[in-house]
Amino acid sequence: MTVESKLPDVGTNIFSVMSTLAEEHGAINLSQGFPNYDTPDALKNLVNHYVQKGFNQYAPMPGVPILRGRLAEKIEKSYGRAVDPATEITITAGGTQAIFTAISAFIRVGDEVILIEPAYDCYAPSVEVCGGVVVPYRLEAPDFEIDWEKFARLVSPKTKMIIVNTPHNPTGKTLKTNDLRQLEQITEGSDILILSDEVYEHLIFDGQLHESVLRYPNLAKRSLSVFSFGKTFHATGWKMGYIVATEILMREFRKVHQFNVFSVNTPAQFAIADYLADENTYLSLPDFYQSKRDYFLKLMHGSRLKPLACEGTYFQLFDYQEVSEENDFDFAKRLIAEFGVASIPVSVFYSKKKVQKAQNAPNTEGVSAKVIRLCFAKTDETLEQAAERLRKI
Ligand code: GLN
Repeated sequence: MTVESKLPDVGTNIFSVMSTLAEEHGAINLSQGFPNYDTPDALKNLVNHYVQKGFNQYAPMPGVPILRGRLAEKIEKSYGRAVDPATEITITAGGTQAIFTAISAFIRVGDEVILIEPAYDCYAPSVEVCGGVVVPYRLEAPDFEIDWEKFARLVSPKTKMIIVNTPHNPTGKTLKTNDLRQLEQITEGSDILILSDEVYEHLIFDGQLHESVLRYPNLAKRSLSVFSFGKTFHATGWKMGYIVATEILMREFRKVHQFNVFSVNTPAQFAIADYLADENTYLSLPDFYQSKRDYFLKLMHGSRLKPLACEGTYFQLFDYQEVSEENDFDFAKRLIAEFGVASIPVSVFYSKKKVQKAQNAPNTEGVSAKVIRLCFAKTDETLEQAAERLRKI
């Protein structure tokens, strides 16, 4: 039997590849983004409580009302936007599912979707599986600044969606007021949708405000914004998140969502609803992660790996050009084998031309920067051990 793949160029994602290599070599895994400390006891106890109490059957398709209500309060407090929990919030099985469902609900064959590269790895395949065409806008190291005039030239009558991500994985950059204003201008008067990946909303540093599209009425009306409980409550394995959009967009999202997952883990939804009642559970996150970033940078002081600016997320980029001429994929593999630390090569977040599309091949085309990504959502002890190894390079 022959199978014509819908995604012929897609292999195993880089996070699985690097985590597996890390395990094989017994390396410290700073590649895949996940904390190596546990989700808070209070939240685990609440899940136990609801499991024991018998909250174990299907939740309503859009999510349990008490959780959606709490989220509406959180959104109003955080971003000054009143959203209707009945029609404008849906609980999802993590950010990635929300993104996939949003893309499948709106993208048809031939529709163009503008991505800002380096882009998180699930965006492009989700567009392509729906027959959409990815139009990449490339950011360059070390600043990764968006030139909105150049960006605007990518918009065509076929543009159906723009995907933005702030704080940004993998660069750690955040969008500023001016970026959002420019996006507002570029999309004004059009039917272009914005898919806004804001899963790192609370991992933002140095006193910055998270610039959610929800703060901007002209963006909010055309946006689907994606959030993650995994990132916020150190529970990436629970695969829980939510999406916010106006009723007219959410209606279409739910048409697909109901046949995609139908509904999401019931006891965890009740538990998170209770846990969210105390806003310190998430308001404490910027300080928590800023301390981790600062501690890691202090430990890396004097290393030949040079840190780039990190304004948010739990990822820190390092430039290794002082150390090696290798492409970033080879360098990352050698880092695992010889120094026992796993990282992610940043070139994998850029799209490749046909000839370079072999699975996980290094992407040298147009990506001259020699940059790797390290995750600092780790205990102090892990960061100390990793930095000790990395300082030897
Ligand atoms: N979001 C995580 C990262 O960027 C990984 C998620 C995954 O493994 N698919 O590392």
